[in-house]
Amino acid sequence: MNSLNQQYEEKVRPCIDLIDKLRSLGVEKDLALPAIAVIGDQSSGKSSVLEALSGVALPRGVGIVTRCPLELKMTRKKKGEAWYGKISYRDYNEELKKPSLVEKKIREAQDKLVGNGTGISNDLISLEIASPDVPDLTLIDLPGITRVAVSGQSEDIGEQIKRLIQNNIRKQETISLVVVPCNVDIATTEALRMAQQVDPEGERTLGVLTKPDLVDKGTEENVVKIVHNEVIPLKKGYMVVKCRGQKEITEKVSLSEALKNEEAFFKEHAHFQTLFDEGQATVPKLAEKLTLELVHHIQKSLPRLDEQIQKKLKQTRANLDKLSNGPPSDAIERLGFLIDRVSAFTQDAISLTKGEELKCGYKSSIFSLLRGQFAVWREAIETSGTNFNWNIQREVSQYERKYRGRELPGFINYKTFEAMIQEQIKQLEEPAVQKLKDVSELVKKELFELAQSSLVGFPNLIRTAMLKIEDIRTKREAEAEAILRMQFQMELIVYTQDTTYSQMLAKRKREDKEEAVNSLVNNNSSGATLKEMLKHLKSYYQDFRPEGHPACDR
Ligand code: GDP
Ligand code: MG
Repeated sequence: MNSLNQQYEEKVRPCIDLIDKLRSLGVEKDLALPAIAVIGDQSSGKSSVLEALSGVALPRGVGIVTRCPLELKMTRKKKGEAWYGKISYRDYNEELKKPSLVEKKIREAQDKLVGNGTGISNDLISLEIASPDVPDLTLIDLPGITRVAVSGQSEDIGEQIKRLIQNNIRKQETISLVVVPCNVDIATTEALRMAQQVDPEGERTLGVLTKPDLVDKGTEENVVKIVHNEVIPLKKGYMVVKCRGQKEITEKVSLSEALKNEEAFFKEHAHFQTLFDEGQATVPKLAEKLTLELVHHIQKSLPRLDEQIQKKLKQTRANLDKLSNGPPSDAIERLGFLIDRVSAFTQDAISLTKGEELKCGYKSSIFSLLRGQFAVWREAIETSGTNFNWNIQREVSQYERKYRGRELPGFINYKTFEAMIQEQIKQLEEPAVQKLKDVSELVKKELFELAQSSLVGFPNLIRTAMLKIEDIRTKREAEAEAILRMQFQMELIVYTQDTTYSQMLAKRKREDKEEAVNSLVNNNSSGATLKEMLKHLKSYYQDFRPEGHPACDR
């Protein structure tokens, strides 16, 4: 395993240390860090490859064994230094005394995270290993792709696993290590297809062929072609490794012995010998290649990472600036400080309601919001006017049939006129009150946002400010509602300046002469009354509507 040359040490270590440090600082919560994810169909040999790379036994067997993503952080120690292991997940951390404990601890962790069943979980189990026998690498082992659910698994287990894998390999920062056994048709493997989906050019996909000892006799040259990148070309190419088969595991062949066996296997193999000579076979060569790829990838990702970190830093700084230095510790100074904060906010709140510029930099859209509300209201009044015209025609003819007494057609009844006007006005009252409430709600929301943005870091002040705002709003809204209702009461007393009304009526009469008169009015026997009534009502309502009546604009 020590095939990594000393010269890499200088280039490799700083890069990997940097990323591991960023990871341990929790940067990964905000930014994706370069990593290698291992994917493959179930039983393709993923865990075996990881095992060979890390030198520790991992849970293996039939069915889904890897049920959570497993992050394997390996750090190479100097020769002679002691082995170190640590497992962590959620809030749990435990140092491991010896490599043989790893398998059991991972199984325990999976049981805790997923339960004893056969389901899977997104929760990450993190395993740190430091030893002279591991490469400097961080790998993520993912559950294998299955197509059929076994008993106890949810029907969509295949979909769940695919989603989990996609989430991991989608990121630009991740290299996908696609594990494919030599004894299956590589073109049909789901894992390679998934990697191609997220990385069509194969820029960050590396193929690993396993089980070369199980290859179908006669298809060896095919495998050689694949490794030579002639079948499904990938920019990062392919490697071939032989791990412990079930028989070797049963016979308790150790991992180091397995490595020797592997080397012997390739050296003696009639077809794969060339691959060994070209450096494209064996686990140590894979380790070397992966480390270099990871370092290369890290170097390529660093400018982007730097940019993202700078951006994040700027945001965080801006947030910090808003918090300023916090309240001073001295009691008197603190009082002054808080008074300043509160009066600055109050000033801004007043400016906000007046549509003036705010000192705190918060951009309010309150007036454009309100303008929108009033535009809608104006439209409602207009529509109500049009409906009114309709109703007048209906009701006036009703009146004619039912109520006309001694008077000759054309003499309008003032009581009917008044009742109609009143009903029309009454209809606007509730919507007007509702509009008032909508507007008051909008203003409250804006004030809440102002409080939140100008009192950042003072949750109690924000809460108090909100309570006060709500208080004031409730009071003011009640006052406004009373005034509005009073206004409607007044409008119910039919009265308008005689001159305005007379002018409107005269105008309407002139218009009527010019216009072709409504056929209903002309042909009806009660036409004269209706026509006359319409003139009066329309003139009055026009006087009442916004353009004619200043009170409605307020
Ligand atoms: P995973 O489901 O992809 O993690 O696959 P495992 O690593 O658990 O391997 C599945 C089976 O294949 C195990 O029984 C391994 O012993 C066996 N296996 C893995 N690699 C090789 C190999 O190179 N040669 C042989 N003969 N068997 C292998
Ligand atoms: Mg596995």
